[in-house]
Amino acid sequence: MRDKLEIEITTYELHTSKPEEGRAYLELCRKIRTTPKAPGFPFTFITSPSQIKANGGPVESGVYEVECDSMFAEQFNTAGDPGRRLFVWCEHVYNHGSAIKRGYYVSAGLDKLRARQAQRLACGYCGRQYWRDDAPGQWCARAGCLGNEYLKEAEYPLLELLPVYPGDRIRTTPPPAGVLSSIEAAQEKRRESERLREVAAAEKELESAQQNLEAVRWLVARGYSAKNMIQYSHRKGFYFGRNGPVSEALLSHLADGFPFEYRVE
Ligand SMILES: [Zn+2]
Repeated sequence: MRDKLEIEITTYELHTSKPEEGRAYLELCRKIRTTPKAPGFPFTFITSPSQIKANGGPVESGVYEVECDSMFAEQFNTAGDPGRRLFVWCEHVYNHGSAIKRGYYVSAGLDKLRARQAQRLACGYCGRQYWRDDAPGQWCARAGCLGNEYLKEAEYPLLELLPVYPGDRIRTTPPPAGVLSSIEAAQEKRRESERLREVAAAEKELESAQQNLEAVRWLVARGYSAKNMIQYSHRKGFYFGRNGPVSEALLSHLADGFPFEYRVE
């Protein structure tokens, strides 16, 4: 079962104004600093009271099951309903500047988590994750990414599928020629479907205008004005009576063969 694994969380609460606990906290900080972390991440994640509340309250010591289908470099979710969002190291801050330090860290299973993260690849553009052996290759192959209208050339390296840890995308290389041609093909396919949509929209407008003309001619031929008729905006049909009451004579004429769907207000 690669989609879940167990880790152990240990919490701490240290009153740093007491010499012994102050030293213990410094020792903990040293451990935090020497634990390998993804580049660019802080030593600890800090959670505010509102974040703690939104995440189901303070995290407690114990064994947690981690969902491995959606992992991030220093953050993961626990299984169960509701799952909790946990960090490799986290400090809960209730009052800034307080001498009381509360937090938690992964005390067992971090090596397993890192090994699993190495098997989980993510596209840096859409965020979709794949197991290494199920990945479509080294690059994202989703049409929504390759053909995305906002995808700029400088962002092409984001399409590379890289392990979620360390998640460092600073030193990525541009895509190889095969990926570039897939991007160009996907972009052209999107542009082509946009052009076809433009034609379809113009055709729909023309069809509406033709129906409107036919409806107006139908009314005028029977001695009525079309001023009290409004065409439905997105459907085939018409409203009568928006600008005033509809006469009994017109109602019976409409019922007798108006060529489109209609409603009387
Ligand atoms: Zn993607």
